Amino acid sequence: MAINIRWHSAHKLSAEPTVEEKIEWHRVHEKNCDCTPFPKKLKDEAASRGISLK
Ligand SMILES: [Zn+2]
Repeated sequence: MAINIRWHSAHKLSAEPTVEEKIEWHRVHEKNCDCTPFPKKLKDEAASRGISLK
């Protein structure tokens, strides 16, 4: 699992992100880094909110 340190240092999540912020962070993260898979729970949250992950 490679960590894209440059991307991470430029994309910090706030200490207490909202669910929407986490979804958006992981959506962009997934395209730039593969250190952590998109959590299934968050995918479900996105789906229940009608948020497209494409
Ligand atoms: Zn990462």
